[in-house]
Amino acid sequence: MDRLLLFPEPFPDESLYSLAVRYHRLVANDSYRRTSHELFGTYSRTCGSVLPCCLRALSQRLDGQYSVTELAEARTLLPLYKPFLSGKVYESTVRCMQSTQGTGLKMSLGMTASGLLKFSSFRCCEACIQHDADEYGVPYWHRIHMAAGVCICPHHDNVLLRAIFPEDADWRCMLLPGESNSTPVLSESSSGAASAVAKMQFWGLSDPQSACGLVRNDFLRWRLTDMGMIHGGRLREQAIRSYVERRFRHSTQEEEFQTVTLDSEWVMRLLRRRRRIIQPFRYYFLCWLLETNADDLRKYEHRTLHQKCSRNFLVKPLYIPASTAETTKFRQAFKIDGNEKCHDRTGYFWLYHHDRDWLKSYVKSHPVIRRERVSVDWSDRDVSLSSELVSAHIEIMTEMGKPIKITKSALFRKVSNHYGFLRNRQKFPKSIEILKTLLETEHDYQIRKVYWAIRVFSLSEHYAVSVIMRFSGIRVRRISESEIAILFLTQQGCEDL
Ligand SMILES: [Zn+2]
Repeated sequence: MDRLLLFPEPFPDESLYSLAVRYHRLVANDSYRRTSHELFGTYSRTCGSVLPCCLRALSQRLDGQYSVTELAEARTLLPLYKPFLSGKVYESTVRCMQSTQGTGLKMSLGMTASGLLKFSSFRCCEACIQHDADEYGVPYWHRIHMAAGVCICPHHDNVLLRAIFPEDADWRCMLLPGESNSTPVLSESSSGAASAVAKMQFWGLSDPQSACGLVRNDFLRWRLTDMGMIHGGRLREQAIRSYVERRFRHSTQEEEFQTVTLDSEWVMRLLRRRRRIIQPFRYYFLCWLLETNADDLRKYEHRTLHQKCSRNFLVKPLYIPASTAETTKFRQAFKIDGNEKCHDRTGYFWLYHHDRDWLKSYVKSHPVIRRERVSVDWSDRDVSLSSELVSAHIEIMTEMGKPIKITKSALFRKVSNHYGFLRNRQKFPKSIEILKTLLETEHDYQIRKVYWAIRVFSLSEHYAVSVIMRFSGIRVRRISESEIAILFLTQQGCEDL
């Protein structure tokens, strides 16, 4: 095993892949294969991954300058996942990353199943490129820009650029940010949700210990309690769902965000911990949905730590006072929201907790003028529905082609409110009575089918009954032979006319 004679000094938040690229340039290698063999002693297929493997070989080649754990925690995205992994899973992940076998790593962390991998790309920020070039002499790939759900630079609030490697090459072309074409990952110039989520993820990545404490102390449950969405220790599912679904409308719907703004199912699964491993992006996005930001996470963790240090082992952290700017922002949002139900207005839960006196006085002094409800004339609807049912019956009976059985479904399909009136059966007595008279028995339906077959296939009474049944599409006969004979006579009578 050869010791590396030189290796670049890592820059803040620089990814392992970025270090490999800079090493590649430093020793003027002509291919990734050569660089990989020098760094990892093998051809590594995971060097460009957010969770690369072969770390033991690299640590050994660096003569222990950086241990495997140091490499994993400072140069990969593993710390972002740490709060959501059990000790056992975390250790096995590090073991996997130090070996040359990375197969199944992303699957074991739930990344494959999350559907977020398809959005992964090499992302960079224009302002970071400029800053890094000025400060360090060279731009480099930042770990945080590669995390799922980070579409905005947490340092500069710029929309990130997705690198397009030349001629469909992949990361093995060993380029640094700004050296290839790129395209913005979001069409919007900014997004409050994406920016807040990026900042929270950066906090989680930079301070995994505090993030672990946040998850361990069940920040989300505390927040929901704070917002009045937990009653008697139970989640108020309906309130949570309608609240987060309203918040979806304020979020970007592009890139990874389209997977979390479709429905609220994943929110309930996450809160009930039905999924073994939570994806950091989903966790921090839910924090945003619950109107918290990176500062709130920091304050919460600080308070919790303070309580423990002062031997006050209360599970619930202390009340966090709100700033004047925040209070003004939420008051304004509440005033602007025109929703009739004050509980559904933006910022209601926040104001209830932080600014209850103002909320009470505002609601009292601004009574909602509810729109007068238009009373429904049910008897009139009953009359029109019954005539619709009769018309539907006539329409089905006069339709060309093979007869359709007159069932409830067949009739309901043709009336304007379809099945709606069944929910208020007691309000449609006349329609219900008429419906009973319109429905067709199997016997009557078979008579129509046989009559139709006689006409269409020009059958004669000399045919066997079984043949007539087959032409009519009848398996179990409900009509008698005499009735069939009458049908033939009727048909003949019509022809004679
Ligand atoms: Zn930046």
